[in-house]
Amino acid sequence: MSHVFPRHCHSTQPVAVGGDGCFLIDADGKRYFDGSGGAAVSCLGHSNTRVTEAIKTQVDQLAFAHTGFFTSEPAEELADLLIKHAPGDLDRVYFVSGGSEAVESAIKLARQYHLENGEPQRRHLIARRQSYHGNTLGALAAGGNAWRRAQFSPLLTEVSHIAPCYEYAERAEDETLFDYGQRAAQELEDEILRLGADSVMAFIAEPVVGATLGAVPPVEGYYQRIREICDTYGVLLILDEVMCGMGRTGHLFACDAEGVAPDILCIAKGLGAGYQPIGAMLCTGEIYGRIADGTGFFQHGHTYLGHPVAAAAGLAVVREILENDLVAQVRARGVYLETQLRRRFAQHPHVGNIRGRGLFWGMEFVADRDSKRPFDPGLGIAGRLKKAAFANGLICYPMPGTRDGRHGDHVMLAPPFISSEAELDGALDSLEHAIVDVVDSAA
Ligand code: PMP
Repeated sequence: MSHVFPRHCHSTQPVAVGGDGCFLIDADGKRYFDGSGGAAVSCLGHSNTRVTEAIKTQVDQLAFAHTGFFTSEPAEELADLLIKHAPGDLDRVYFVSGGSEAVESAIKLARQYHLENGEPQRRHLIARRQSYHGNTLGALAAGGNAWRRAQFSPLLTEVSHIAPCYEYAERAEDETLFDYGQRAAQELEDEILRLGADSVMAFIAEPVVGATLGAVPPVEGYYQRIREICDTYGVLLILDEVMCGMGRTGHLFACDAEGVAPDILCIAKGLGAGYQPIGAMLCTGEIYGRIADGTGFFQHGHTYLGHPVAAAAGLAVVREILENDLVAQVRARGVYLETQLRRRFAQHPHVGNIRGRGLFWGMEFVADRDSKRPFDPGLGIAGRLKKAAFANGLICYPMPGTRDGRHGDHVMLAPPFISSEAELDGALDSLEHAIVDVVDSAA
């Protein structure tokens, strides 16, 4: 009997014993193509020796030194490298152990910044519906996923949720993409004015929406308008690139494609590529300076901030991405993946939408393409698709639609940056079989 507590209490999971490039191997020797990197984590695959060697070297040299007393060489070097390539005026890095911690830190930093700035009334956070920013209580409060929030809602701080930028479901037929994006962004200004122009501390959003919507990029102009609105009202813009950052979308940072830089940026998953748990919050020199010149102390912290071994892994990952120009490779392989997805599924009667960027793609399933009507949630399409694909040797990331019928089941693909075209073909064969087994038979 396993004493490890999985999320689904009654599930029996195979034991993972090895990793080989883009594949995971279980105790029976079965190989699984990691088509979603778990949840967009394993960007370098599972046996990158540059990263494993860096970890071994660091453990031998220095396993841990508490940031209450020391900084460390790998943390300093990684921060320098991130800042060198980061958008806008991002100038300081706060290393944590994962995505939720990065978001939690961002929310608290935004609040403290306004306090130091003499604006204690700025306490409202605005986020978007159908979003996910993590599972700790602050990050969960920010997220707009009704199902995840439901049982914890009495414990969550109040956060306003506006519409996501989700063209497939929300754009009117007679509306241009640009006009739709401006309308979606306008909800932010409306909400700021409703709450009181000087009472909002920050707006948080994911530039390309991962798990909750399934790799949905924004339309052109949306984030530029969001940036303008934030600037007008002194609201900090927090971008959550925990899933879509670190090259995943074919840009080192997803917001690079929008021509917009945030005040605070959260990254994680691809930063450690699964080799070590690491996340980071980057902030501008203005925010850092205000706190440094004020109380001089960010009132937050965790034992494993800036962990040297995690930082050494992150440093090796970022060097691997930059020195091998893997971001360009993501773009090229992304074009291949998109072409093959469209060739196989664009005409499928139950594929309503194929969208994504780089090596980050989603497909949304509908019972009816014309009306975009989702499948009955009771059919459990997403869960069954995950099982069928896994049985076929493919790890992908299916998510159920929302109960209000605004959004159907989808599947997300986020394969390693090193995937070959032949490996992607194999993954799509497995996915196609799973779709035939589950989606076609449900129709
Ligand atoms: N933000 C986003 C956009 C995410 O996708 C996730 C994880 N799926 C998180 C935050 C939370 O990250 P973690 O699971 O590392 O705490």
